[in-house]
Amino acid sequence: MSDKPSKDFHENITDRLRPDGRKPDDFRPIRIEVGVIKRADGSAYVEFGKTRVVAAVYGPEPMHPRHLADPEKAVLICRYNMLPFSVEERKKPGPDRRSIEISKVVKDALSTVVVLEEFPKCMISVDMVVLEADAGTRVAALTAASLALADAGIPMREMISAIACGRANGQIVVDLTKEEEDAEDAVDVPVAMSSLTKRISLLQMDGDLTIEEFEAILDKASKSCVKIHAMQRDALLKKYKKEGEEVDIDGEY
Ligand code: ADP
Repeated sequence: MSDKPSKDFHENITDRLRPDGRKPDDFRPIRIEVGVIKRADGSAYVEFGKTRVVAAVYGPEPMHPRHLADPEKAVLICRYNMLPFSVEERKKPGPDRRSIEISKVVKDALSTVVVLEEFPKCMISVDMVVLEADAGTRVAALTAASLALADAGIPMREMISAIACGRANGQIVVDLTKEEEDAEDAVDVPVAMSSLTKRISLLQMDGDLTIEEFEAILDKASKSCVKIHAMQRDALLKKYKKEGEEVDIDGEY
């Protein structure tokens, strides 16, 4: 990380509009739904603009194959997959290096909140499928996975919310599109944060930033995760709150 501010950094204080007409802090239109896959134990759908992801959870169930069971806690299995038609040029089906990496970082993030010790010798499977990709698929997948786990009734210490912030076209922006990620100066910083403790469970970076830029990005990501958490809570309430019922679940899942 260099400590010299980039020449365009201070442009960011202006509210110059982005290629798709958004202000720097604007999300793309977000849609979040819980319980979209009837056959799964828990599921969720998350849409950030043209990025659309479904997550489904099965378990806890006895570990299969049995010799891989952990006598102390459940094994969390996370699979991220992009469908062939999710990107402009048909993607070869099946896992690749990128999907293996994303599956791993999602698993690492979720392992910080799921109470795995409650289910020794069991497995909990989380499948995340990208239907359409326009950047930010790992944060959409993680946001959906967290909700799908809650929908499956799996105990979690707190909910995880995630967003990608970064630099594009001389501005520090929230929720980058693929077009922005392809800008010459682009740096993408996916961030996942838990709702109560604000603990960061995922943070990646694919370019050089000044310390000033990095701090601005982290600040925007933190504020964005609070807003996404409110949307996750609303989606859960929409499914689970009964007509006329008063529910106070602030900070509790
Ligand atoms: P994320 O989707 O979390 O931002 P990346 O930064 O690796 O992860 O990918 C950015 C975007 O690049 C994806 O959302 C997708 O739009 C595009 N992309 C990724 N992999 C492929 C691929 N194999 N073919 C075409 N586009 C891809």
